[in-house]
Amino acid sequence: MRIFRAIGVPVNPVDPHTFVGPATVQRLAEDDETVPVGVYRVTFEAGGRTNWHTHSGPQWLLVVEGRIRVQRQGEPPQDIRAGDAVVFAPGEKHWHGAVPGTTGTHLAVNVNVVTTWLEAVSEAEYQGTI
Ligand code: MN
Repeated sequence: MRIFRAIGVPVNPVDPHTFVGPATVQRLAEDDETVPVGVYRVTFEAGGRTNWHTHSGPQWLLVVEGRIRVQRQGEPPQDIRAGDAVVFAPGEKHWHGAVPGTTGTHLAVNVNVVTTWLEAVSEAEYQGTI
């Protein structure tokens, strides 16, 4: 058993090279004992979203506060809310962020994941108007 206490773990601004708009990330747990797993708490302010990206392994998002917008390439954006979860398959190109005009927080659970960061999510993509 390993306990990862959140208290005292810094909440850092995200990397502006891989996100658009305001967001913070808190690294809650990372364990490499068997399959590497990372757990991160990510809070998006209105307008905040990741760039397009892929993960080499599955990524689970568990929405814990507010509303989160997710989009898989080739499909319209979809909005989910606190209590909802989504899993992205390895290699699936996607992004996640706040629903426009709102804030949202998700836990990201990355299972044996290397992330490949791609282009920014345009305003039209974010708004779902294209
Ligand atoms: Mn992702």
